[in-house]
Amino acid sequence: MPNEFDLIVVGASFAGAACALAAAQSGLRVCVLERKRDPGDKLRTTGIIVKEAAERTLLGQLPASLVRRVEQVRLYAPSLKQIALAAPGCYFLTTDTPGVMRWLADQLRLHGVDLRLGTAFRDARREGDAWRVDGIGRARWLVGADGARSRVAQRCGLGHVRGFLYGIEYEFPHARLAHPDALHCFISKRYAPGYIGWIAQNPGGVQAGLALRHDPAHARVPDIDGFLLRVGRAGGLPLRLTPGPTRAGLIPCSGPVDPIARDGAILVGDAAGIVSPVTAGGIHAAWEHAWTVGRAIAAHQRHEGPSPERIAAEAAPRFRTKRALRWAYDRLPFDWPFDLLLCSPPLRWAAEQVYFGARRCEPLTPSECATRSPRATGGTIAGGD
Ligand SMILES: Cc1cc2nc3c(=O)[nH]c(=O)nc-3n(C[C@H](O)[C@H](O)[C@H](O)COP(=O)(O)OP(=O)(O)OC[C@H]3O[C@@H](n4cnc5c(N)ncnc54)[C@H](O)[C@@H]3O)c2cc1C
Repeated sequence: MPNEFDLIVVGASFAGAACALAAAQSGLRVCVLERKRDPGDKLRTTGIIVKEAAERTLLGQLPASLVRRVEQVRLYAPSLKQIALAAPGCYFLTTDTPGVMRWLADQLRLHGVDLRLGTAFRDARREGDAWRVDGIGRARWLVGADGARSRVAQRCGLGHVRGFLYGIEYEFPHARLAHPDALHCFISKRYAPGYIGWIAQNPGGVQAGLALRHDPAHARVPDIDGFLLRVGRAGGLPLRLTPGPTRAGLIPCSGPVDPIARDGAILVGDAAGIVSPVTAGGIHAAWEHAWTVGRAIAAHQRHEGPSPERIAAEAAPRFRTKRALRWAYDRLPFDWPFDLLLCSPPLRWAAEQVYFGARRCEPLTPSECATRSPRATGGTIAGGD
């Protein structure tokens, strides 16, 4: 029957695509609902892909025109003193993110997924051992890959994300950074309390943004213009640029939700809270977890393997160390330790862990570090932090 599926997935971004592709490749009848008509429209992510995702997932097959390899991180203290970090063989891919989202939609269609663009999930109810999704049909499994404020979680009685960062970013189409081969990251309690700001060259221009702790009771509008005035020149952003589209959204940072699954309804990606609480990177973790869930559903349909609900819970990363690091970073109220200690071994070690995991980075020598203080890079643009 045309409206009978093995699996209905809500959301055609990274988590939804991974889950649907894993299930479709194993022969399941999969339907994906995406409320946007154009999957590349209204983006909420910078779209930087880490090396592990590029080398271990389908994202490694992205066309070369949609990605740009970046091998270095430049980390700036609030004073704009900086260190350069790199690790042999390590890199990130900045992306033409609208192009990536459209490519994912093409992959879904190529693998026989029934992709319904411009179709929002509204409600679902249990019918025997299946879910009936309003206006779509029935499926044994329903997966919520519908982002940080998941409607699937709400309608199916699953857990909610409790803690968020809020990220906002400007795009500068066709712009070029003075140092395009580095991801420029800025520590600033004033502009980005609880997280950092960043500037990156992508295949078609520059992205610059910041994220900060999201406190609904004391919501504050991120001062991205003030931030770029302060750091733009140090980060090599050309002067007097007019921003193009803005990307903004909530970033879960409180770890996986509970329950993550029950009665054939399963959450993946941001809906499941699967985002690193330290880096705020969610693409790789979302992909790995959602792929595992898609495979588990397919195996279960063949009467093999444990229940997908159990797999979804067990495969969800807990981020225990990263949550502890986030707690500590959140409670450090001053900028001066970063100004003072940026080139020190403990801070360098922490930065290595954040950006490159356990691999060793190659720092600048102390003299290089000193010569890349604001004085040497042209000074600050506006007043100090
Ligand atoms: C500003 C910002 C920058 C970020 N930068 C990075 C980065 O550089 N690297 C990184 O790894 N992570 C980054 N993240 C985090 C990362 O983007 C997310 O973790 C990742 O996109 C999660 O993918 P997802 O598929 O779970 O959810 P999302 O990407 O949020 O996708 C959810 C999808 O569901 C659709 N949807 C929602 N509700 C419905 C509905 N009712 N019906 C149908 N469809 C629906 C949406 O339209 C959307 O397409 C960033 C986040 C933000 C906010």
